[in-house]
Amino acid sequence: MAKFDAVIIGTGQAGPALADRLTRSGMTVAIAERGRFGGTCVNTGCIPTKTLIASAHAMHTARRGAELGFDGIGEARVDMKRVKARMQEVSGRSRNGVQGWLEGMPNCTIFRGHARFTGPQSVAVEGATLESQRIFINVGGRASVSGVSGIDRVRYLTNSSMMDVDFLPQRLVIVGGSYIGLEFAQMYRRFGAEVTVIEMSPRLVPREDEDVSEAIAGFLAREGIGLRTAAMCIGVKGDDKTITVGLSCEAGEPVASGTHLLLAIGRRPNTDDLGLDKAGVAVDARGYITVDDELRTSAPGVWALGDCNGRGAFTHTAYNDYEIVADNLLNNAGRRVTDRIRAYCLYTDPPLGRAGMSEAEARQAGKRILVAKRPMSRVGRAVEKGETEGFMKVVVDAENKRILGASLLGTGCDEVVHCILDLMYSGASYETLQRAMHIHPTVSELLPTMMEELRAG
Ligand SMILES: Cc1cc2nc3c(=O)[nH]c(=O)nc-3n(C[C@H](O)[C@H](O)[C@H](O)COP(=O)(O)OP(=O)(O)OC[C@H]3O[C@@H](n4cnc5c(N)ncnc54)[C@H](O)[C@@H]3O)c2cc1C
Repeated sequence: MAKFDAVIIGTGQAGPALADRLTRSGMTVAIAERGRFGGTCVNTGCIPTKTLIASAHAMHTARRGAELGFDGIGEARVDMKRVKARMQEVSGRSRNGVQGWLEGMPNCTIFRGHARFTGPQSVAVEGATLESQRIFINVGGRASVSGVSGIDRVRYLTNSSMMDVDFLPQRLVIVGGSYIGLEFAQMYRRFGAEVTVIEMSPRLVPREDEDVSEAIAGFLAREGIGLRTAAMCIGVKGDDKTITVGLSCEAGEPVASGTHLLLAIGRRPNTDDLGLDKAGVAVDARGYITVDDELRTSAPGVWALGDCNGRGAFTHTAYNDYEIVADNLLNNAGRRVTDRIRAYCLYTDPPLGRAGMSEAEARQAGKRILVAKRPMSRVGRAVEKGETEGFMKVVVDAENKRILGASLLGTGCDEVVHCILDLMYSGASYETLQRAMHIHPTVSELLPTMMEELRAG
């Protein structure tokens, strides 16, 4: 039995920063990790995928020589072993950084192994029992593969096993037309694979506005990606060479087949083998740990941070969870999850930068809204770069003139969206943005102009 001031389970996006903050405040901390340091983002999520996307983007640009005015490159052909090696190098550097940080942290003890609660204030890991009055769960999630009939009898890939791929799949079928599926779809198409995406909803990224889905489907289709929407995967079968996905659909073939299958149908929290019942920590019907606005679980002295609490599914939400918990614990800051504004990106090319409500959500909320929308073909910087797919859309509350949200789908919009986000945090009206002088030539310079173009929506 070893006593600590705090025990943290998981070294994802909240755990290490929390350990740092708590140890610097004078506490002794035990941190448990059963897998690789850094969790999903570092090893199988954001960092490796964005590194792969960079390789795919370079290949795409190389193919546009005729348009951009150069030749001599020849046919761009991928070398997946080198692409993978580059990705592993970037991801590995980040993982080693997290490991080195924790190993060098005074008053922090690392336990390697699967941690489970054995009681309200105790956790077993690696044959040791750790006791603490403060336990922080940061166990993240994994790809869900349930609900696909026959999946246990075929070869399939998930975001995790995709990281081991060092060859070009000839024909890749991706089930799931949301964030993870679409990022892999575009990158593998650019590497040279034939790609088909299957999405059961009538449109891709169904949580976004219809015009966003339509624009994304447009540029993906123009790159030659096969899109099967309103097509429910009802089962899979296959052999060494071919995987066939049976579809329930009104239009098109009732099957899609390829040499490889990637499942991107959602995530599930790593809460099923945590002994949560021993600690009295409640979960919802999908296994997410239920938390209050300060991320406290139903058990006193136990918090849940990151993907496992269902209050966010991003690295920045996990990190923000850490900031909220640490600030409240150490500074009595009274920070709440509901104070944060929803924000995320989809890293297709061009990317979608999202902040706050979509137009449809604002309407559903019964708001009287003003909407400004500008195609990227009318954004000078995009024209100069020859990257004019997409549009920028900003939604304003007509009553108080505050920005409700934005969907910015265009070159550079993963960065541009922060103009909107910061204005929303400031609580200022859209007129502040309208009067701001932005730098030319940038994509952001059009945001003030767009504010002139707001119309009743
Ligand atoms: C393909 C893909 C791309 C993504 N791209 C982005 C992106 O571009 N931007 C973005 O913001 N987000 C992205 N995400 C999401 C992001 O990776 C996650 O939201 C983030 O990693 C969640 O962090 P976390 O700290 O909650 O959990 P994780 O990072 O999942 O960390 C949890 C850790 O806990 C450990 N663990 C679990 N159970 C136990 C146990 N019982 N005992 C000990 N250790 C345990 C795990 O091994 C893991 O290391 C992506 C995800 C995927 C899958």
